[in-house]
Amino acid sequence: MDKIYFPARAKINLSLDVLAKRPDGYHQVEMVMQSIELADMLTFTFRKGSEVLFTCSHLKVPSDDSNIIMKAVRRIREETGTNKGVSIHLEKRIPVAAGLAGGSTDAAAALLALNTLWDLGLSGDKLLEIGAELGADIPFCMKGGTCLARGKGEELTLLSPLRPMWVLLVVFPISVSTAEIYGHFRLMGLKGRPDTSAVIKALEKGDLPALKISCANVLESVTLERYPQIAKKKRDLLKKGFSGTLMTGSGPTLFYLSSERNEVERAVEALSLEEEEYIITRTI
Ligand code: ATP
Repeated sequence: MDKIYFPARAKINLSLDVLAKRPDGYHQVEMVMQSIELADMLTFTFRKGSEVLFTCSHLKVPSDDSNIIMKAVRRIREETGTNKGVSIHLEKRIPVAAGLAGGSTDAAAALLALNTLWDLGLSGDKLLEIGAELGADIPFCMKGGTCLARGKGEELTLLSPLRPMWVLLVVFPISVSTAEIYGHFRLMGLKGRPDTSAVIKALEKGDLPALKISCANVLESVTLERYPQIAKKKRDLLKKGFSGTLMTGSGPTLFYLSSERNEVERAVEALSLEEEEYIITRTI
């Protein structure tokens, strides 16, 4: 095989809870993660020689060695000792720094695709381990579907898959740094936590209303306080009856789920278009 096309899918957090701060500075989280169809498109082409070429035309994404894809390349080369060459092209479609795991999913795709392209023979577990060293969301991006993620986010349990849903993403033209939001997050007096076991039960029963009632994101209040335009858009959606609208990850993206495409389109029509962009996609 000398060419691999790889769609690297984005994720949303159906729920996000923080249980504790760990001695290593990371937070111990409990999240229900869901893959969505929105994806970056990556092309991996085998090259003779040892050169690794990376191209990406998106203004907000570094196209040098600091790109997380290049970190994944270095790590897999270190692990296996290979010095085979590759050209990698990234067509960025997932909004950047938006809480949709855009970088993590690209790194996950790079590990999976290079293992095949370079015929490295790394096991699925080894790839997950390497992924976890590079970023806590990377193992989930490799597995996909619907998962409970604990620890730093890398301890995964597959859950009953969410039946196919339409997803409205409300994307703001601001980049939110996960580190900034965790920096302002306080565990003391935490309110608005998700009921994770109820989320899991709702998934098992395929009960969307119950799912929406149990889901929450504890980072939401931190991000919404710092970015009032997101809080306003969420209020607008809730007031107009689009219940269960939630922020994904550390934000800023909001999402609304429905089993009907019409309803998601109604949500777009109901909102006054300001600076944000709307993307309609599906769970997968
Ligand atoms: P998460 O949901 O995992 O917290 P995110 O979706 O909020 O992540 P990313 O889109 O991964 O955030 O971008 C975070 C930062 O990483 C950006 O500042 C971006 O410049 C940098 N970056 C490095 N490599 C990539 C990549 N391949 N795709 C997107 N961003 C990248």
